[in-house]
Amino acid sequence: MTSYHIDTKCIQSGYSPKDGEPRVVPIVQSTTFRYESAETLGKLFDLESAGFFYTRLGNPTVDAVEKKIADLEGGFGALMCSSGQAASLISVLNIARHGDHVICVSAIYGGTFNLFNKTMREMGIDFTFVAPNINDADLATVFQARTRLVFSESLTNPSLVVLDIEKFARAAHAHQVPLIVDNTFPTPIHCRPFEHGADIIVHSTTKYMDGHACSLGGCIVDSGDFYWKLAGKFPELTLPDETYHGVIYTDQFGKGAYITKCRTHLMRDLGSAPSPTNAFLLNLGLETLPLRMARHASNGLAVAQMLEKHPKVSWINYPGLPSNPNYSLAQKYMPQGTCGVISFGVKGGRDAAVKMMGALKLAAIVVHVADARTCVLHPASTTHRQLNDAQLVEAGVSADLIRLSVGIEHAGDILADLEQALAQI
Ligand code: PLP
Repeated sequence: MTSYHIDTKCIQSGYSPKDGEPRVVPIVQSTTFRYESAETLGKLFDLESAGFFYTRLGNPTVDAVEKKIADLEGGFGALMCSSGQAASLISVLNIARHGDHVICVSAIYGGTFNLFNKTMREMGIDFTFVAPNINDADLATVFQARTRLVFSESLTNPSLVVLDIEKFARAAHAHQVPLIVDNTFPTPIHCRPFEHGADIIVHSTTKYMDGHACSLGGCIVDSGDFYWKLAGKFPELTLPDETYHGVIYTDQFGKGAYITKCRTHLMRDLGSAPSPTNAFLLNLGLETLPLRMARHASNGLAVAQMLEKHPKVSWINYPGLPSNPNYSLAQKYMPQGTCGVISFGVKGGRDAAVKMMGALKLAAIVVHVADARTCVLHPASTTHRQLNDAQLVEAGVSADLIRLSVGIEHAGDILADLEQALAQI
């Protein structure tokens, strides 16, 4: 489907029914698949042939959605996971092991920060967190002999820093390691990380991709372009895997080496597979993604412009505003708009923020962002509550920060709701 516009791919990619087959991707709600002979099945187990045999490792519904997401990102292949957290974990663990080192931008989502800074550190992988605006020279100094990858979000949650993808890709490639970019917030509709040098993309599909807050999911997309044999840094891909009778991923799967190992090794062992029904729901969301992203961005901008001028608002962060420090990066990497997420503070600090949020009628307080319904959250007391004050500052989250996720309702209703809530503080 490479020649179609992305809007068409959102509808058509991943599934082409043959004569008499269902027009809509069917939900294949089966854990397993029948074969005539043990020999055929054995070949699947040994990765000698491709096919479905157990839904943890692959399923026709999930496969169709993986193919669609790979196509949307312009990647070679994709693996869906049960959540965004699982996708982040697998994307890193696939090429970093005990004793290895990872460079990560500090402003990432709090859940990913905890996963890296606590759980994966305890597994023996070391992390260095760097500010997104680090300069080239300082960035070069944090690479170590055992550095295996660089990780960031394209648009950070909730601090809304736009990543200079080319700067981080250049540094990663100069040290022969890949750049992994979490593209959850802008989605492939608004940001194209592979076109700027990223090698792997991860998603929490739970957010805009699903878009209706009805299914958890994650996805890893491989560009297929990173040359894993370089510098001998990735033995797990370039040397025999004894658990598959000595398969060498780079030799047998070429451009698909990384994403095949994510599935055959880590999905096999960790089991964080998506359900076929969740893949089906995600696919429905993907069909309308371009329409929704355009509306999220236009509504987001309208709300940001109103808040910027409001006398009770002390500060606002929305990269679509010309006054925002990330505006020029946003114009470069997300020229059609960012997304519907805005962060801001109100005069009166934390207490006024809590009062104002309580007065909202249309916007609900939920631990979620990036779906069709407008919602708000106070990260310092919820998603980021494990972080100490210094870590909060590093993550770009102040104690008074309100995260507003502007939905796709009529902009006039969202603005009126905010106006009446602000009038009460
Ligand atoms: N990445 C980003 C940017 C997120 O915002 C989130 C969740 O909010 C995740 C990853 C984790 O995704 P999930 O909640 O689907 O596990």
